[in-house]
Amino acid sequence: MIPFNSPPIVGTELAYMQSAMESGKLSGDGGFTRRCQQWMEHRFGCKKVLMTPSCTASLEMAALLINIQPGDEVIMPSYTFVSTANAFVLRGAVIVFVDIRPDTLNIDETLIEAAITPKTKAIVPVHYAGVACEMDAIMDIASRYTLFVIEDAAQGIMSTYKGRPLGTIGDIGCFSFHETKNYTAGGEGGATLINDAALIERAEIIREKGTNRSQFFRGQVDKYTWRDIGSSYLMSDLQAAWLWAQLEAAEQINARRLALWQRYSDALEPIAQTGRITLPSMPPECQHNAHMFYIKLHNNEDRGALIDWLNEAGILAVFHYIPLHSSPAGQRFGRFHGDDQHTQVESERLLRLPLFYNLSDNNQKTVINSLLSFFS
Ligand SMILES: *Cc1c(COP(=O)(O)O)cnc(C)c1O
Repeated sequence: MIPFNSPPIVGTELAYMQSAMESGKLSGDGGFTRRCQQWMEHRFGCKKVLMTPSCTASLEMAALLINIQPGDEVIMPSYTFVSTANAFVLRGAVIVFVDIRPDTLNIDETLIEAAITPKTKAIVPVHYAGVACEMDAIMDIASRYTLFVIEDAAQGIMSTYKGRPLGTIGDIGCFSFHETKNYTAGGEGGATLINDAALIERAEIIREKGTNRSQFFRGQVDKYTWRDIGSSYLMSDLQAAWLWAQLEAAEQINARRLALWQRYSDALEPIAQTGRITLPSMPPECQHNAHMFYIKLHNNEDRGALIDWLNEAGILAVFHYIPLHSSPAGQRFGRFHGDDQHTQVESERLLRLPLFYNLSDNNQKTVINSLLSFFS
């Protein structure tokens, strides 16, 4: 079988985890956590990076940090993972879903303004497949209406928009190091990027169970106390050790993924020419990270036939995101603003192909040949 995904492994993970064990400190903000944070602050030019247990936790931190109150509205696409919405629903927010663009499957920035009401508090762009949302337009709307922008950059680490790293453009950015993402912290992990300096102090407090323990560790206060609401949003240093191995190899992982992505794209271009499939489209201002390679078929039926064909050849290809507004919880906690012209239709024809760091050239060739024979 050729799996759909396999966690990235570069080979130095165990040695770093061993070294974390020997350091005598495994809880949050140990040596490897610091290395990961500093690497990202430097690499992406971010004011403050805080490692977290998951992107879900980072999104929850963001909702606490911008003081979401019951009844506040948060604008986002419906074509996303549940955590994008759940984080705000946990604070009592009403989710306002806006349609996506059919080219990138990102939130349609031209539809956001009409969805704003006096209760709107934030916009949450999701950089689908590591391809940037139209951030200039989104930041402009946010500044005109004084809204927060929380980037769900779970899939967007190492991607850029007009040269700017994703996750660093909004007030807060959230990364995922889940094993299905480009880099992993041993299966689960995340990071919160605080780009608005005014939010840094409270972010540290919320992450440390509502205490100012981070200031205490830096010697800025002589004891720490309960200061605010908070939770435990720290990553274990064992996870950070795993992640550090991957960040050291970040360019190598990125280059390999891009090569695999390009090979799919080149091989499938002739089929796209016949009109039987659509390939991902890349706006010129977006440099992507090859998080995902998907094709779009004509409809759900065509997609089902291809999935079956690939399965018989021992290849797992999957689709995802039942649009949130059509799910039971989405109907309860949110509403769709305007017409759903693209979200449902696009979600029913998209198919993701195996793409992961350790996918061999041979296995990719098997996938490509199987696709070519299906379409011939
Ligand atoms: C993976 C993902 C998440 C959740 O990430 P975790 O680290 O698993 O919590 C959130 N949003 C999007 C868009 C994702 O792809």
